[in-house]
Amino acid sequence: MDNKVYFVGAGPGDPELITVKGAKLLSRAQVVIYAGSLVNPALLDMCAPGTEIHNSAGMTLDEITGMMIGAYRAGKKVVRLHTGDPSLYGAVQEQMDILDREAVPYAVVPGVSSFLAAAAAIPRELTLPGVSQTVILTRMEGRTPVPERESLRSLAAHRSTMCIFLSVHMLDKLTEELIAGGYPAHTPAAVVEKASWPGERALTGTLENIAAKVRASGINRTAMIIVGDALGAGYRPSYLYDAGFAHGYRGDHD
Ligand code: SAH
Repeated sequence: MDNKVYFVGAGPGDPELITVKGAKLLSRAQVVIYAGSLVNPALLDMCAPGTEIHNSAGMTLDEITGMMIGAYRAGKKVVRLHTGDPSLYGAVQEQMDILDREAVPYAVVPGVSSFLAAAAAIPRELTLPGVSQTVILTRMEGRTPVPERESLRSLAAHRSTMCIFLSVHMLDKLTEELIAGGYPAHTPAAVVEKASWPGERALTGTLENIAAKVRASGINRTAMIIVGDALGAGYRPSYLYDAGFAHGYRGDHD
């Protein structure tokens, strides 16, 4: 482990879904700062005895980066553990920018994002030939602004597969926007709560009825919404395994 600060993707919850590289870094770290609201604390069992472990949930940005910088300068191995993959809704850019300013080297180790764990939970392929070859990752506006040109209503015009983070508490408004934007009301929709955790729950329905199902289930946090015809419709099988498709082309695709 080089002397660097490592931003590590913890994966969606199941401690076996961290990467091998991430697990190694965690087991060798001397200081670990984890995003306590969503990272499964079971992952911290991988840390060696005596590792300094901090939950960033109650800390400010300056406290978090101050701790990373101080530990790095003291020659300690530092891991900053983020849920899923750090590059998505991780508030990681501002941390990296501060480290840049302080000339502290860092590296990012990717993780399995929760949208992938949610797709595995249903389980469905998100990219079906002739149905959708595009996955949009987005969220509804909350305290964090979303540019108007990326409103759900405008993204809906593509009718691609959409994975929507941080929004399950606004599902009524969300489904209205998607329908207003162009998805037919009968478009399949799924909500997966705590994908890959022991209490994982997956509900499936359509844009018309998923909000009521979710309300009845009591799901209101840590859930992924997936929408699109890829969750249901017929499709034409991929050329990848097509017996009539020249073998020479296999492997270059998908
Ligand atoms: N970087 C994370 C996302 C952090 S934002 C990632 O790549 O997954 C937090 C949002 O992610 C939650 O509101 C929820 O929409 C989603 N999320 C995180 N973990 C989840 C899980 N295990 N199951 C379903 N959704 C999850």
